[in-house]
Amino acid sequence: MSKKIPVQKNDYIEVDFQDLTHDGAGVAKVDGYPIFVPGGLPGEKATIKVIKVNKGYGFGRLMEIVERSEFRVDIKAEDAPKYGGCQLEHVSYEGQLKYKENQVKQVLTRIGKLEDVKVHPIIGMENPWHYRNKAQVPVGEKDGQLISGFFKPRSHEIVDTNENVLHIHEINEAVQAVKEIARELRIKPYDEDSHKGVLRHIMARYGRQTEELMVVIVTRTKEIPHQAKLIAEITARLPKVKSIVQNVNSKKTNVIMGDQTDVLWGNEVIYDFIGDVQFAISARSFYQVNPEQTKVLYEKALEYANLSGDESVIDAYCGIGTISLFLAQKAKNVFGVEIVAEAIEDAKKNASLNNITNAEFAVGEAETVIPAWYKEGNSADVLVVDPPRKGCDEALLNTIIEMKPKKVVYVSCNPATLARDLRILEDGGYQTLEVQPVDMFPQTTHVETVVLITRVN
Ligand code: SAH
Repeated sequence: MSKKIPVQKNDYIEVDFQDLTHDGAGVAKVDGYPIFVPGGLPGEKATIKVIKVNKGYGFGRLMEIVERSEFRVDIKAEDAPKYGGCQLEHVSYEGQLKYKENQVKQVLTRIGKLEDVKVHPIIGMENPWHYRNKAQVPVGEKDGQLISGFFKPRSHEIVDTNENVLHIHEINEAVQAVKEIARELRIKPYDEDSHKGVLRHIMARYGRQTEELMVVIVTRTKEIPHQAKLIAEITARLPKVKSIVQNVNSKKTNVIMGDQTDVLWGNEVIYDFIGDVQFAISARSFYQVNPEQTKVLYEKALEYANLSGDESVIDAYCGIGTISLFLAQKAKNVFGVEIVAEAIEDAKKNASLNNITNAEFAVGEAETVIPAWYKEGNSADVLVVDPPRKGCDEALLNTIIEMKPKKVVYVSCNPATLARDLRILEDGGYQTLEVQPVDMFPQTTHVETVVLITRVN
């Protein structure tokens, strides 16, 4: 017998919000039936309109707040376009940090069944605005005018804006300058429906330490009308630009970048630092978007690894080797594994850029490469994992349990899969010692956590 659903579509009801979902919507329960309401905050009472009723859960629209959370902040309607990409713009920063810290604590108990593990207070940013060193801005047309900004959530309508509170100012300036130049030169914006026009996306990347700027123009056609003038204007208006790159994407697709990338002016890469480690960043390479907090996170990982210089370290899911190169400075040797071949190319280049000779990198699945490596008789003293949202593959966790490294340092972008994996490691003879959440992405719901796990016997 299925339980009767206590609400109907178009009902107006008063609810209490108890929780936030991982994408920032308020959760209210009516006789145990959950209703997700964007904008609702835990501790608030509000009137909502029920807009969708599914079997196990429903959706509502926030109508009027009856009791307000102390963490709610109001944003003026005219400022709303500046908050593209922020899911928590209606929550004070103090409230955001509290919410993220609680989320980590809750899943460790609920999913990980870790009862008395120590969770340190989350490390936030002193200034949680204008931190992103990269923007990818869609271009379109409205009322005959080229516009650029961000897609309205769950839609393909572009909101036109020049400022985004998440982007570093230099990034906002770069995007705005390219947009204005494109308007002046009457370069046609790309139209998704007809698959015509030229300019699809404006991208910008910025090395905060080096103050080097890269502009990437994503176009449908290789030809750009007035290309020489476009370049001349970009270099004149953006003195920090070191690299102007074109990426051609002639496909009818939502994927931003195409296969062809050409340098139009200047260098192929810009440089930046995380701590003392230097990175070369090309138009396509992965690079952390908040280097300031990345440094905080990786310094914690390094502290937890507590290296003396004699250790062999494995860095699974190593990307472009950010953590590997950080650890190599203190370890005997580091072995990094990553599934994307281009990222491994970058990792090797970054190792030589920094004269690091004790780091080796291999392309492949962590859950295949590391077990094979172990079967050949290799082992590690410390194993670092930094997996994508779905967490570690079970085959990798089983190899860790057999290999018995003294320490595992787990860097996680998803507390739920972290908690699941910690349970597996605990059942395999490990103990979770320290848990440190770090806020890498203020104003969004993302939480990063670094965890120290040690072998019990
Ligand atoms: N530590 C890295 C980023 C890690 S993000 C850095 O700071 O640069 C997670 C990485 O895991 C991504 O680079 C992704 O390509 C890689 N990845 C995903 N699945 C994988 C798998 N099964 N084996 C190895 N790497 C994988």
